[in-house]
Amino acid sequence: MHLTSLSALFATTLFAFASVSDAVLPGTWPPLDQAPPMKPEWAKLVNKKKLPKAPVQTAQAANCSQAVQFCIWSCNACTRSESDVTACPNDKEWGISYDDGPSPYTPALLDFLNQTNTKVTFAVVGSRVVERPEVLQRIRDEGHEIVVHTWSHPALTTISTEQIIAEIKWTELAIQTAIGLTPKYLRPPRGDYDDRVRSIATQLGYKILMWDRDTFDWKSAEDSSYQPSWIWGNFSQWVTDSHGHISLEHDLYPVGAQNAPYAISIVREAGYTIKPVSVCTGTAAYRENVQLAASGPLPADVTLPDPPAPSPTDSTSGSGPESTSSTNDTSANAQSTSDSYASSVSPQFSRLGPFIILTISIAFSVYNIRNIIIG
Ligand SMILES: [Zn+2]
Repeated sequence: MHLTSLSALFATTLFAFASVSDAVLPGTWPPLDQAPPMKPEWAKLVNKKKLPKAPVQTAQAANCSQAVQFCIWSCNACTRSESDVTACPNDKEWGISYDDGPSPYTPALLDFLNQTNTKVTFAVVGSRVVERPEVLQRIRDEGHEIVVHTWSHPALTTISTEQIIAEIKWTELAIQTAIGLTPKYLRPPRGDYDDRVRSIATQLGYKILMWDRDTFDWKSAEDSSYQPSWIWGNFSQWVTDSHGHISLEHDLYPVGAQNAPYAISIVREAGYTIKPVSVCTGTAAYRENVQLAASGPLPADVTLPDPPAPSPTDSTSGSGPESTSSTNDTSANAQSTSDSYASSVSPQFSRLGPFIILTISIAFSVYNIRNIIIG
């Protein structure tokens, strides 16, 4: 699927939500889910002369010819340790993260997290914050971390510097207005960022929050063959290496949100401590002096839910997409890049085994993955 199609799907989903919930956050806000306007005072916060001259990409044909020079994650899973966080650094620590809410499904997920004394990270969209500030307040009150995920969820390498600033600052303002806190982490939509985006984020006071384990649960919204068992199937494999990780799920979609508890069960029962990402990395979550905490012990009267047993017709239950089960962080990231950008590469495709993976690897060495999938 091209980025434009993915954007259309996302906009459709968001519109459906916007149509059933008027903005309730006090203040005057830009139209939801559209590129927000720039404010002159915000433009002054970024020194454009300091920005790397990475090309502004197009949605249909991304240019990866300078992927190494500008460290374009969407091309080659490039990260920079000075600005990007991709995993909890310590073994047996796990940063669970949920993107794109708050949604109608977030409160039930919060109920479970609260019951199990589990603390996670939410990367929130500004337009959703305007719709559901009370859910954001609950996320704060219950000790979870909140991260900026832009106003209208664009691919950041495809928009101007002014647009990127506006996407970040309007979301920041909505979060400040809703909960009185200013996040210090930015999660780029779809993991699309490069050195220009990094520099803008850094100048605005943000570090980049990525992931090293991806459930692709967002595909459930467009692909009826997506099986929820893949979510916990993946987690069952990922926990076996004992390394620190940050995983990506979404609370915008019902399948992802409703199956998230099984992933929590698997990670906790494997002996991992689940932490907000700022806690596992030993960094500040907000500009304000707020100290978050790790998950606590499971209350004595609470039992973690076991994933449902595989159905007789589900020959693949219990094992997630093979491509995301790698214990090699670099290859896992690279595969995440291709799948994040191309739902035409279905989970079924990625499950076909080593032959397919080998084929992809060979192709990867000849062309860059974006040219294969999107170009
Ligand atoms: Zn997102």
